[in-house]
Amino acid sequence: MARRKKIYEGKAKILYEGPEPGTIVQYFKDDATAFNAQKKDVIEGKGVLNNRLSEFFMTGLNNIGVPTHFIKRLNMREQLVRAVEIVPLEIIVRNFAAGSMSKRLGIEEGTPLPRPIVEYCYKDDKLGDPLVTEEHIAAFGWASQQDMDDIVALALRVNDYLAGLMYGVGIKLIDFKIEIGRVYEGDYQRLIVADEISPDSCRLWDIETGQKLDKDVFRQDLGNLADAYTEVARRLGVMPKNATHAPKPKLIN
Ligand code: 5GP
Repeated sequence: MARRKKIYEGKAKILYEGPEPGTIVQYFKDDATAFNAQKKDVIEGKGVLNNRLSEFFMTGLNNIGVPTHFIKRLNMREQLVRAVEIVPLEIIVRNFAAGSMSKRLGIEEGTPLPRPIVEYCYKDDKLGDPLVTEEHIAAFGWASQQDMDDIVALALRVNDYLAGLMYGVGIKLIDFKIEIGRVYEGDYQRLIVADEISPDSCRLWDIETGQKLDKDVFRQDLGNLADAYTEVARRLGVMPKNATHAPKPKLIN
């Protein structure tokens, strides 16, 4: 059997060359990292859950006309996605204060924000993904003004969709991070939602109890991360029972 080509290995995913030009296979690992990989663990079943949840969110977005890289899920841990050129920014949307915003501005976690706030971080692990402004983005050519208008519009549409979906299952969407990719179609480029949308990249709190159902469970040692993600999947009707305990496929690198 021919070996497939590994394109990139990140903290939570591996990207392989896809079967057709312009496609990529995205493999979800069980590895969990936090604080720029200073805290690490392997959480059995996390990759399976994030593959399913990201499929669910990206499919929902595609269906309401928000373009994403997602093509189809291939198996328990892999999905086929469009190859994109990643814009080197993390786009963060916040509905309630938490995390780095609470720390930076001294606002108590959970305080509702007067309107959704969009922030940008420059994607660079060595620098710890620093917060940047539109001035930096324009000056250093990471994205044009037109790109930024499109990125904000995409981010706010993702926020409306995700917040509504979560509210329907008793979960508050505190904040989330997305990444954006460029695709070229003839002479035109388009921006689409890429990477993943999962509890690894969102803050999700139970509306009634305030229980955290996202990666903060791992960051802050609040309990079993796979149980928290399973609860999100269960409420959304995403996972078949016991699916996280299916055996891992053998990786061919
Ligand atoms: P904060 O800036 O408060 O640490 O994070 C804001 C939101 O973006 C949180 O939902 C957090 O999970 C997400 N986020 C920020 N940076 C990263 C990152 O490097 N990777 C992932 N997966 N999510 C991130």
